[in-house]
Amino acid sequence: MRILNCILFSACMLIAGAGAQTANAASANPPIAIVIHGGAGTISPKDMTPALEAEYRSTLRQALTSGYAVLKRGGTSLDAVQAAIEVMEDSPLFNAGRGSVFTHDGKNEMDAAIMDGSNLKAGGVADVQHIKNPIALARLVMEKTPHVLLVADGAEQFAVSQGMPLMPAGYFYTQKRWDELQRALKKEGNKTTALEEQYPGTSAHGFGTVGAVALDRYGNIAAGTSTGGLTNKLDGRVGDSPLTGDGTYANNATCGASGTGTGEYFMRLNLTKDVSDLMQYKGWPLKKAVDYEINDKLVKFGGKNSGGLIALDHNGNIATAFNTTGMYRGWIDSRGRVVVKIFKGE
Ligand code: ASP
Repeated sequence: MRILNCILFSACMLIAGAGAQTANAASANPPIAIVIHGGAGTISPKDMTPALEAEYRSTLRQALTSGYAVLKRGGTSLDAVQAAIEVMEDSPLFNAGRGSVFTHDGKNEMDAAIMDGSNLKAGGVADVQHIKNPIALARLVMEKTPHVLLVADGAEQFAVSQGMPLMPAGYFYTQKRWDELQRALKKEGNKTTALEEQYPGTSAHGFGTVGAVALDRYGNIAAGTSTGGLTNKLDGRVGDSPLTGDGTYANNATCGASGTGTGEYFMRLNLTKDVSDLMQYKGWPLKKAVDYEINDKLVKFGGKNSGGLIALDHNGNIATAFNTTGMYRGWIDSRGRVVVKIFKGE
């Protein structure tokens, strides 16, 4: 009996020792990871020249490496998300910051949000017209005000009070987005048709919203999204991107997520918060929750060919899903592997 006890005790110590080692190893080398998107939509290789495709891929890579560099040097997930998104906001390729789509009246009205999964703090801005990096202003709303969302003139006055310059409207102009508006105006007949008829797939509204989700070495998740919204949207329309739980959500206990697509669906289905809830209350793994939201729930609700999601959990697992023909996307996973993709099936 004494021998048996001794054997059992030694076995327990071995197991406990192994456990401690694992914990030490994990804390010595905690996972860091980042995932980004540059919008979901009707994207196919035949609509793109090789040069344009290369430009998209290299800008996505640049956004990823900017965000990852922050994580690598011990920076926070909030800084990583902001760094990655600013690269895409500064590029005219994406529908965020410079290169944003136009409203019905020919304006650029941009929305953005950032969320800190460590404390559920969030900041957002909507309908800003002169802010070079709306994600940076969203971050200031989170950190320097007691509020979560500022809109239009008030948001811009706050930007000025924080020393942020206002850009002339011309800075955001791109011929491609202007032409998209002209085509949409020409096609426009009945404004009261169902959402899916007005925006049949995201090709009609000019995709290119950008988003990022990151996990830092302190175990904190952050998520952010920035967009010009939908081409030919009514002035004053706000989409899902600046709204926590709709286009943007982060919670260390579960995941961070950023959405892209026809915002009206994301707002009614609270898609990013739903991913978190499925994990928290049903115990689903990240990938199952993300796939369900995009390929089941959204489709059943009428949002076939209408959007996508990127997400990342507290272990550094990454998931992406879209029900369109493409989504600009990429990630650097916890092993440091860099992936950039555009089309379906890639
Ligand atoms: N979700 C954005 C919005 O509705 C647009 C997009 O992601 O393409 O404002």
